[in-house]
Amino acid sequence: MNDCVFCRIVAGSAPAAKVYEDDTVCAFLDIRPITRGHTLVIPKTHAGELQDLDAETGAHVFQVGHRLALAIRRGEPAGSPVRADGANLVLNDGSAAFQTVGHVHLHVIPRKHGDTLRLAAGFLLRRPHDPETTAAAIRAGLALLDTEPDTDNEQPPPEKGSRR
Ligand code: 5GP
Ligand code: ZN
Repeated sequence: MNDCVFCRIVAGSAPAAKVYEDDTVCAFLDIRPITRGHTLVIPKTHAGELQDLDAETGAHVFQVGHRLALAIRRGEPAGSPVRADGANLVLNDGSAAFQTVGHVHLHVIPRKHGDTLRLAAGFLLRRPHDPETTAAAIRAGLALLDTEPDTDNEQPPPEKGSRR
């Protein structure tokens, strides 16, 4: 096996709080999250940069990132600690774009209204969170994504200028 840490996570020989996997991709919590629930989606087969990745797999990586963003935003089950108002989906391709791990990965970064996060600074200033509880909440949210929303759990949209 190569010495890629993300390949080791896929193989199960390095630890990670996994939230999703299928035949092609794997998603797990970032070890140094910018916000709670910050997840990385990767292809299971090693690809260093986008130029090494086939388009179909790239589309699937984004599809899974899309579903994660929807699940996190929906914020179910009730009381989920990773409820968010939106998300940044970011892919740093190449060292010029600050890619630091040489295995393609899509960041899904939950965002809240008024969280005042500056994304570039966020990549430097990170706070640890309880990864097991966080990963379990995201897995539960993904499992509920294809069901009808729990309307009792809905929050009204924030008023203009509010910092919820
Ligand atoms: P990049 O700067 O390459 O876009 O982001 C790499 C990300 O991988 C960083 O956010 C970093 O915290 C995360 N990371 C690096 N090593 C590990 C690891 O061993 N496990 C996990 N879960 N995340 C990692
Ligand atoms: Zn790899």
